[in-house]
Amino acid sequence: MAEVSKVLDVAGVSKRFGDNEVLSDVSFQVDKGETVCVLGPSGSGKSTLLRCINWLERPDAGQVYLNGLQVGISGAGIVMTDRELSRIRTRIGMVFQHFALWPHLTVLQNLMEAPVQVQRRSKAEVRDEALALLSKVGLLEKQKAFPAKLSGGQKQRVGIARALAMKPDLLLFDEPTSALDPELVGEVLLVMRDLAREGRTMVIVTHEMAFAREAATRILFLDRGRVIETAAPDRFFAQPETERARQFVQRYAGDMAGRQ
Ligand code: ADP
Ligand code: MG
Repeated sequence: MAEVSKVLDVAGVSKRFGDNEVLSDVSFQVDKGETVCVLGPSGSGKSTLLRCINWLERPDAGQVYLNGLQVGISGAGIVMTDRELSRIRTRIGMVFQHFALWPHLTVLQNLMEAPVQVQRRSKAEVRDEALALLSKVGLLEKQKAFPAKLSGGQKQRVGIARALAMKPDLLLFDEPTSALDPELVGEVLLVMRDLAREGRTMVIVTHEMAFAREAATRILFLDRGRVIETAAPDRFFAQPETERARQFVQRYAGDMAGRQ
């Protein structure tokens, strides 16, 4: 059973697609306030891992606990109903590479939709909070704009604010800056850095090595579906233990020197 001080406990999760074993016995825990950055080559299973955490993919084996509550299983091994799954997913905010904003809703409506419709919270209260969140990500003046009118960096900041509007216990990011033009990456990383400093609990898949080194409390290195290293960022980048991680770090060393 998971300790309740752990926000997230991933215990022995495995997942295969046909013959392809994408995750093999992945285990790790995330404490409240931690920022865990998941690094690894393309195809190593990072996205699948995030999707297994909120059961967008159903793991073949293993368990996931959020604040001690098992995700996907509601007692005596019974798989949750869609309704139960939706409820537990509202406690896990997800930020995607491609934003996934609702195009027919304004920025403010994008933030308010789920808290009002799914969480059934009061519109006035949700609105006040949504405006505060927009201000936090520097987009208060865009509240009435539609997503199509925003830059990629602005869209992603709305995506982050929208995830926060649900007051999640845990935030998952899947390469939130990978789809952005290079000059727009910084504004998104700045928002994420603030969240890390505030002590939000986050699992972030990223290729932004300088960000990971500075903002992460811990690095998880995934290779071919296995966690082969887990370490504090300074240690991971200065002295990777495995050959695979060494190669990975070297390949990105130029990025780290060239970009903040
Ligand atoms: P990463 O995010 O690290 O690049 P992914 O988790 O997206 O890796 O993918 C890991 C492996 O799983 C890849 O070989 C990919 O082709 C495969 N995969 C991912 N999703 C599916 C799926 N829905 N069906 C079949 N294969 C998949
Ligand atoms: Mg991926």
